[in-house]
Amino acid sequence: MLLKPLHKLLHKLLQTAGKVVGRNTLSILIYHQVLATADPMRPSEPTAEVFDWHMRLLRDYFTPLSLDEALAHLQKNTLPANAVCVTFDDGYLNNLTVAQPILAKYNIPATVYIATAFSNGNNMWNDRVMHLFADKQRQQLSLQGAQITLGDWQQRRALAHEWLMKLKYLPISPRLAEVDKLYQENNASEQVPLMMSPVQIKQLAAAGISIGAHTVNHPILKVLPAAEQQTEIVQSKQQLEQWCGQPVNHFAYPNGAFGRDFDETALNIVEQAGFSSAVTTNGGVSTSNSSPFKLRRFTPWDKSVLKFHARLLNTMR
Ligand SMILES: [Zn+2]
Repeated sequence: MLLKPLHKLLHKLLQTAGKVVGRNTLSILIYHQVLATADPMRPSEPTAEVFDWHMRLLRDYFTPLSLDEALAHLQKNTLPANAVCVTFDDGYLNNLTVAQPILAKYNIPATVYIATAFSNGNNMWNDRVMHLFADKQRQQLSLQGAQITLGDWQQRRALAHEWLMKLKYLPISPRLAEVDKLYQENNASEQVPLMMSPVQIKQLAAAGISIGAHTVNHPILKVLPAAEQQTEIVQSKQQLEQWCGQPVNHFAYPNGAFGRDFDETALNIVEQAGFSSAVTTNGGVSTSNSSPFKLRRFTPWDKSVLKFHARLLNTMR
């Protein structure tokens, strides 16, 4: 997408405005997948084409920083104008195959947070649920005994979402058992692995992407006893350090909303475990007054370049 002169001017104006309203604030963007081609079950996930213009916009009008650089600036209150960090959650293989080459093209640093239990070929429970509803060969699903007719993509997405919400807050093993039951009930086969293997994670680290921890099983930390939270947090750090042969200093809380998905218990464990930062999914920006263990993030979802730019600016205020 080539920018017309008028658009360039508007971007310049937004950039200048960002220097005023966005002074001393850090925007952290959340991505999950970057799709090689569009997926009708995931219309909000960027494709390679969309991610390319996101990154070009960041390069041209923002100051992309690594998380380490941003943390150092936050501590000294020396953040450059329009400062932004790019992060990815969960550890999808397309972070390596699709996103990383685009990040490299625009020289944009990034952090990828990985839930380590899914690096052995198992897909995450939510992707397994999505896959059940995405199978176009299937006109019907048996869901806990009820026969449900599947229709167009919109209806399939709505149904999948309903089941995701139903299962999300269950503890780890009952959640997994419920998904297994749905697969058995429908005699469904698993999708190809969507997540990176240990070797691929190491490859991503070698390409200069910072690797962060995101627990082992991606539970809602708040529903677990403190000892289990500790195991989830510490084991994922140690496992990733072993796979990558380098320290893992950054953490992302699964699901990530403070109060709803995690609380002070997890925050203290993360701090004690030796991490230097942790990111949430609470929206907004971070400043030098923010706790480095409760950094705010948001998802850029706009489909047009100017709206995307304006949204980034609006979040800074
Ligand atoms: Zn996640």
